[in-house]
Amino acid sequence: MAMSVNDLLAGNKAYAASFTEGALPLPPARKLAAVVCMDARLDPLPFLGLRLGDTHVIRNAGGRVTEDVIRSLAISERLLGTDAIIVVHHTDCGMLTFTNDDIRQKIQTDLGDSAYQAASRIDFLPFTNLAQSVRDDVAAITASPLIPKSIPVYGFIYDVHTGELSPVEPAA
Ligand SMILES: [Zn+2]
Repeated sequence: MAMSVNDLLAGNKAYAASFTEGALPLPPARKLAAVVCMDARLDPLPFLGLRLGDTHVIRNAGGRVTEDVIRSLAISERLLGTDAIIVVHHTDCGMLTFTNDDIRQKIQTDLGDSAYQAASRIDFLPFTNLAQSVRDDVAAITASPLIPKSIPVYGFIYDVHTGELSPVEPAA
């Protein structure tokens, strides 16, 4: 059942009642920017050993590096002082379960022809190889002229069953 606005406001009221972090500075304390899948089972701050105010977390479907992710990374680094980037994809990711054709067909069935036309112009960025998707997105960041070579970029796979993070080594 869909959440109501009242449900959400009630949840927030409980949160705000015990909120004590109102004096955090704007720049991330640990100078990190993390690109992470939007999957509801991933809770990046605790699984990275970080807390509120420590890092930027840029999330989308798959944790894919798009033009808009580069936009956020450039703002994070140039204006807010971050000096390292990580990319985190994860086991059992939904992006492994469909193709562009699959989602475009679903959109046509559910929403009709004009939606299909719009969807046909979007790459939904699904992938078939988890480690390779991490390598591709790390490479997309390092290849951007907006990301200087002095910024290290590391790739990881998070295991949704164990909570463990494993490094993905760059391709040789
Ligand atoms: Zn995912």
